[in-house]
Amino acid sequence: MEKLIIFSAPSGSGKTTVVHHLLKEMGNNLGFSVSATTRKKRPNETEGRDYYFLEEEDFRQKLAANEFLESEEVYKGLLYGTLVSEVDRVWAEGKAIVFDVDVQGGLNIKKLYGDKALAVFLRPPSIDVLMDRLRKRDTEVEHHLQERIDKATHELGFEKEFDKVIINDHLRTALDEAEKTVIEFLEKK
Ligand code: ADP
Ligand code: 5GP
Repeated sequence: MEKLIIFSAPSGSGKTTVVHHLLKEMGNNLGFSVSATTRKKRPNETEGRDYYFLEEEDFRQKLAANEFLESEEVYKGLLYGTLVSEVDRVWAEGKAIVFDVDVQGGLNIKKLYGDKALAVFLRPPSIDVLMDRLRKRDTEVEHHLQERIDKATHELGFEKEFDKVIINDHLRTALDEAEKTVIEFLEKK
């Protein structure tokens, strides 16, 4: 069966860390859904691997042409979206597709695909730890950081709508649990 694995969580919870680990360990079975965004590229990011970095006009054109499975203004003035073509691309390789999307996007994809999709909520041990991790990552200017923290507080209320919750406190434990969860889901008929 063609399958989808969704990782959603507030920014700073560790989605990127966990998803990169899974792709490294299980790359033969998993492929990443590269989202489109109008956010500026960070120094450690690569076009076409981490995101498709688009001008807002291009993004809106694709939106009008129905090229997105889901899309959102995740932060003020910043658009993010999953391209339908990503699902086709990864499934054509015979792999399950893995998403790193915000909580609303994750729930929207789950709604579209039902049992074909596993929706995982990655939870930080506390909001203080989350703030600390975001600050240490040092990718946001202070007012963007505050916006991310406000959104995180709201998103933490949605965990019960997900199939599985993994707490990302001790990283190794969270990575092992994520691997185990994905293997079980892939083995399910
Ligand atoms: P997200 O993709 O959800 O925004 P990241 O994977 O970028 O989150 O993680 C945010 C920051 O926290 C990164 O600097 C990452 O290295 C760090 N981090 C992730 N998991 C842990 C953990 N269990 N303990 C400590 N730091 C972590
Ligand atoms: P960042 O700017 O830190 O890469 O991502 C910000 C937020 O946008 C994260 O919560 C990330 O999961 C989410 N995101 C990334 N791509 C998509 C997408 O295609 N759709 C949605 N809804 N959210 C996304």
